Amino acid sequence: YREWEVEKVLTTCPHCATGCQYYLVVKDGKIVDTEAADGPSNHGLLCVKGRSGSFDFVHSPERLTHPLVRNSETGELEQATWDEALDLVASRMGALRDQFGGQALAAFACARSANEDIYMLQKMARTAFKTNNVDNCARVCHGPSVAGLAQTLGSGAMTNPITDIAENAEVIMLVGSNPEEAHPVIGMQLRKAVERGTKLIVVDPRDIGLARKADIHLKLNPGTNVAFANGMARELIHAGLIDQAFIDERSEGFADFAAMVEKYTPEFVAETCGIDARDLVAAAHTYGQAGAAAIVYCLGVTEHTGGTEGVMSLSNLAMITGNFGKPGCGVNPLRGQNNVQGACDMGATPGDFPGYQKQANPEVVARFEQHWGVEIPKWKGTYATDCFPKMISGDIKGLFIFGEDPVRTDPDTAHVIRALKSLDFLVVDDLFLTETAKYADVVLPGRSYAEKEGTFSNTERRVQRIRAAVTIPGETRLDTDIFIDLMNRMGYAQPQLTSAQIMDEIAELTPSFHGISHERLDSAEVAGAGLQWPCKGPDHPGTPIMHVGQFTRGKGAFSLAEYIPAAELPDADYPLMLTTGRVLAQYNACAMTDKTPGLNEISGSSFIEMNCEDAAALGVADGDRVRVSSRRGSIESTAHVSGKTNPGQTWMPFHFQDGNANWLTNAALDRICSTPEYKVCAVRVEKA
Ligand code: SF4
Repeated sequence: YREWEVEKVLTTCPHCATGCQYYLVVKDGKIVDTEAADGPSNHGLLCVKGRSGSFDFVHSPERLTHPLVRNSETGELEQATWDEALDLVASRMGALRDQFGGQALAAFACARSANEDIYMLQKMARTAFKTNNVDNCARVCHGPSVAGLAQTLGSGAMTNPITDIAENAEVIMLVGSNPEEAHPVIGMQLRKAVERGTKLIVVDPRDIGLARKADIHLKLNPGTNVAFANGMARELIHAGLIDQAFIDERSEGFADFAAMVEKYTPEFVAETCGIDARDLVAAAHTYGQAGAAAIVYCLGVTEHTGGTEGVMSLSNLAMITGNFGKPGCGVNPLRGQNNVQGACDMGATPGDFPGYQKQANPEVVARFEQHWGVEIPKWKGTYATDCFPKMISGDIKGLFIFGEDPVRTDPDTAHVIRALKSLDFLVVDDLFLTETAKYADVVLPGRSYAEKEGTFSNTERRVQRIRAAVTIPGETRLDTDIFIDLMNRMGYAQPQLTSAQIMDEIAELTPSFHGISHERLDSAEVAGAGLQWPCKGPDHPGTPIMHVGQFTRGKGAFSLAEYIPAAELPDADYPLMLTTGRVLAQYNACAMTDKTPGLNEISGSSFIEMNCEDAAALGVADGDRVRVSSRRGSIESTAHVSGKTNPGQTWMPFHFQDGNANWLTNAALDRICSTPEYKVCAVRVEKA
């Protein structure tokens, strides 16, 4: 294209939570390219998904362009008018609400959509559905970060900005995180930091790319993070590598914590984690001797039955070494989807209103009731993962799913399908006829990030703009308009609002967003850098580094997190351990990225990584088709034989429908916040 033929629209990448800024290049009403912008988290960098995977799906012929309603006689989904579809949703969901109460309804919010959409979805659930059963996909990823860091620090979010870590940390300890694949532009910045001299400790059961750059790689057994962290803490205490002044002034509970970790000797931890005790000691000394050391972690920490304990045990490490509230340090969860941080911030969780204002606090509820002009249910809502058993038991009868595909993404697929089939009424609002939408009674065609105004919040709490660049043919509607329309049809009088007006309502009701508006984000003052919450007023510059001088909760809390083994370990019937993760070229259920042929050519189908020893014992060669079975299901995949995983351990990406790992994964849940243990289950592998 020639420069004068195109329009360039500055926006935010819709894939991972790095929040890269780029321009959508629009020619004749169609996006034809992307061009990197100098955003605060990407500095002109983009990964392959941002470069080529962000626009084919917008114009895909597979897009839903009309509402669909299931014909009760033929059982088929058929095209309907918006009035027919929304009347049906309002009457059926309204009838279930009136007959069984709001407890019989639930809503799942889209962590890929805008803050303004998510705010209105949870408002619809609380005002029109009369339910607190509202959740988002953080429940299956970083729920433990929200719960664990809220308990230890008072705020469940990344403490330091990406660039600050890359530029100022003397040591980076990467735990259960493979940013070169899952958050590639962060991975690029960390790699550059290591090349400049920053020390790197990688704690991961696989030989990830950055492990080759690491000073120390602790290739620990999946599911043993808490033992590892407690062992590090014990060594730091014994070696005198703790910040006693920080502990005394800014924390509480140290004495009990120090007593608790005493049994995590290097020998015990080495045996439990499958590592060399000398490496553990070396890692503790490297971390403890740094002036500023940052912990960066991801789902390898959270997706366990002890995920919250894993997060708290990392927080303990930063607390004893005084690594909070200054540049280049902290505890930093890399959030997964582009706006999963925002989905939590916007109150799409059972116990929290926007800005983590607690439903348990009557003053918070009263304020929302006064502003919204309606009584809000007071009972405790159900986490999304706990909703599935309730669907099977009949306690939840109506479900509204906005932009999520649990048939692809939740553990134990057979269980999820059984739950969805048990519902009286299922509504899906999405861009495509997903595997989940195929079970719906009504399917509503929403709009993508390139067709709406709004904001995403990236992993470093940075609220950035997305902007409408194109329209697509058909009858898609703004998701906020769908929710507003449904609220009114179900009896809650919700005035029509633009996206900017919705953000004004969010800001009015949410102290940490008081200073955020579309107008300010678009202003010369902010100059495309976004605003990091807490942003407490129109003159507040936002908060790049959290917990300076004081933790959000006051004093930081040490947690007595003990190691407990995973719920399902290999045995005679299922002798190998399976853990799951992501690859660079695809994103989550591939709903958006698999519409780009080039990405499918790089990585387009299911595979399982096996250790050479295990493969040889089974007579499996690299590239062979294999059958992988667990107690929950069985799939076919392709064997990738290498030394990336230790003997006895296997690894699969969870993206691909032609052998979806989630038929195998275990729905055992985190003991505190109900996040599933995707990272450990037992499987059997046979030649197909
Ligand atoms: Fe998009 Fe993430 Fe890649 Fe950046 S790193 S271009 S946000 S997928």
